[in-house]
Amino acid sequence: MLKLVFLGPPGAGKGTQAKLLAQEKGLTHISTGDMLRSAVAAGTELGKRVQGIMDEGKLVPDDLMVELIEERTAQADCSSGFILDGFPRTVAQAEALSEMLSKKNDRLSHLVYFSVTDDDLKERLEKRRAEENRKDDNVDVQLERLRVYREQTAPLIDFYREDDRFVEIPAQDSINDVFQRLTTALQ
Ligand code: AMP
Repeated sequence: MLKLVFLGPPGAGKGTQAKLLAQEKGLTHISTGDMLRSAVAAGTELGKRVQGIMDEGKLVPDDLMVELIEERTAQADCSSGFILDGFPRTVAQAEALSEMLSKKNDRLSHLVYFSVTDDDLKERLEKRRAEENRKDDNVDVQLERLRVYREQTAPLIDFYREDDRFVEIPAQDSINDVFQRLTTALQ
């Protein structure tokens, strides 16, 4: 059964690939960014706590995120496999995730890292800014998100890289090419 984490900088195309793969393989796509944006839109307690943090491009505290994922992955639709898109984002989150799964005698099947060059990333983020109307996608917040990624999430790639479930997918090509590469790597 496929239980995946998708890693990579903001703008690498994780969300797009996650949607495609979830559809093709019947997996549940869990985007923590989408979950948090829904909470903000619905004005829940969680939404109120995270709104300012998200608007600034910072990370929501680990304990909140771990609790959110623990609840979400316990739901019935995750029993036939899932893709975590945007979680974990820190080494502490990754450790909590692996502990959470091993308590249930479970483990991730692959750790998928979508890699892109800095130039390519800049271009994609500019495009996304033009196409989507995300409040956290103005230039300053995008740069902050990238800084936070480099500082807090990139070390996670090194943490996972030694693992034999780690798969790196060069993600600078077209959506279709990247998807082909992804499905081949998961076979
Ligand atoms: P995303 O759509 O994945 O780029 O997430 C949007 C925002 O939600 C991020 O900039 C963070 O503020 C927050 N967020 C999403 N996932 C996480 C996570 N795993 N840990 C901390 N903050 C998160």
